[in-house]
Amino acid sequence: MLDINKIRADFPILSQKVNGKPLVYFDNGATSQKPQVVIDAISKYYEEINANIHRGVHTLSQLATDAYENSRGKIQNHINAKFAHEVLFTSGTTHGINLVTNGFASILKPGDEVLVSALEHHSNIVPWQMLCEKTGATLRVIPMNLDGELIMSEYDKLLSDKTKVVTVNHISNALGTVNPIKYMIDKAHEVGAAILIDGAQAVPHLKPDVQELDCDFYAFSGHKICGPTGTGILYGKEEWLNKLPPYQGGGEMIKEVTFEKTTYAELPHKFEAGTPNIAGGIVLGTAVDYMNEVGFDNIQKQELELLEYGTKRLLEIEGLKIFGTAKEKTSVISFNIEGIHPYDIGTIIDKLGIAVRTGHHCAQPIMNFFNIPGTIRASFAFYNTKEEIDVMVEAVKKAQLMLS
Ligand code: PMP
Repeated sequence: MLDINKIRADFPILSQKVNGKPLVYFDNGATSQKPQVVIDAISKYYEEINANIHRGVHTLSQLATDAYENSRGKIQNHINAKFAHEVLFTSGTTHGINLVTNGFASILKPGDEVLVSALEHHSNIVPWQMLCEKTGATLRVIPMNLDGELIMSEYDKLLSDKTKVVTVNHISNALGTVNPIKYMIDKAHEVGAAILIDGAQAVPHLKPDVQELDCDFYAFSGHKICGPTGTGILYGKEEWLNKLPPYQGGGEMIKEVTFEKTTYAELPHKFEAGTPNIAGGIVLGTAVDYMNEVGFDNIQKQELELLEYGTKRLLEIEGLKIFGTAKEKTSVISFNIEGIHPYDIGTIIDKLGIAVRTGHHCAQPIMNFFNIPGTIRASFAFYNTKEEIDVMVEAVKKAQLMLS
């Protein structure tokens, strides 16, 4: 059982007032808040071991390198990757996906097909579109139903020997749908396609096991799991990372450089050109430790209670419609109120100290599917409470009264 007061005390920002009211932070889908251990670890790095990594023989450089590689190992364990060199540090999910699409530019040919789901964030659509434009491959879309679930019979029909890559999120940021990724991974492999899982919205809620899933790539961001911004991970299967060309050229990623020819470093360095976000990478390990100490069973239990309670309470409001009613869903509630623009609700409840996201959530195709300009999205984390949901419901009712 979570001691919620103790957990909340770990996050200094949660005791703040915003616009004179106690902060209710329900924008966890955009980024999570940071516990004191993470904030302290950033200062500690700069106070005690700041140096460039993998380069110097001096003590600080070795300490920083050890801490960075130790963090890679923690993340390897966390996602159960077979090798540490399959775990690449990135600046976030977007960087990870672009690294992969850049690599596939040298593999795909005209006539090849890339399958992308209808439920994607723009960062898992646009890089694939750019890839298709570059290579002449065709982008095909796995459709969804009105509950916001991908239609697996349509996915099965789209798969063929032309399919070279499939890309899908584990959990949708806009609707909270949990996608049947194990099924999708197995089916992609049956036709010989590679598959990338965008895990940005999954890792805050669960511990992915990349070996059990057998995915080829799994990308996520550190800032959504209590870690610093500008951090992320791309897991790639060794055989794929060996096959793909480097993303960026520069220091760190080479074996030998002459003006005639450069040879590349072994994994993971081949994909880690330049000085990385050293503090961020190290502290991402601290964040993962923190999440594991809280425990993913506890996290899930708390968040599912909040989802159930929040859904029930919000549906008491007349004219309120929830978008995303999948059977498998995480703690995200996307909703609208008849006749009122989501932005107006968001603006009024912000004055009451409540942070939600309004708009298209970087998923315009989903909004087009439902024929709406956007939604109000309340996304709950394990440090949120039912009392905060009550505050939001009352605030939304007040906004509705003011606007109608
Ligand atoms: N995919 C999904 C599903 C997301 O929710 C996000 C972040 N909102 C991203 C990708 C992009 O993550 P980042 O901006 O951290 O690169």
